[in-house]
Amino acid sequence: MPREMTYPCYTCGSDQPHRQPRDDRERDIIRELTHARTPHAYVDDYWICGRTDYDCRNIRHAWRVKPFDPPRKMPEPD
Ligand SMILES: [Zn+2]
Repeated sequence: MPREMTYPCYTCGSDQPHRQPRDDRERDIIRELTHARTPHAYVDDYWICGRTDYDCRNIRHAWRVKPFDPPRKMPEPD
């Protein structure tokens, strides 16, 4: 599976490079976000906006531009 894909980003309003969750911390954050609706969500189906000229980090699903309402962004490590 490719590690980077171009997808439309809801927050940016344009096509942007996206990356998959890169470590267990990020996978756990997505699990927490999705747990109520889809307890067995496949976290690698979620993609994080990797726009380089703006700190977006909006999270989308491979098939849905806006899986969370309001949109959620991947927090930076503490
Ligand atoms: Zn974005």
